[in-house]
Amino acid sequence: MNVKVEPHRCPQNHPCPVVRVCPTGAIRQRGYAAPEIDKAKCINCGRCIRYCGFGAIRSA
Ligand code: SF4
Repeated sequence: MNVKVEPHRCPQNHPCPVVRVCPTGAIRQRGYAAPEIDKAKCINCGRCIRYCGFGAIRSA
């Protein structure tokens, strides 16, 4: 599984709560923009996919 962000699903108007649930610190957010995932740090655990209420993070 690969994880990807779909920016069009993210309202990009709030601090992304998913940043805190990632166990490896692979997710970062610049301002209120859609979060970005560092593929080198991601272990594909899927937590971010389950946590985002907008479905903006999905498996690819
Ligand atoms: S799948 Fe897991 S490790 Fe990868 S970005 Fe999401 S929460 Fe972080």
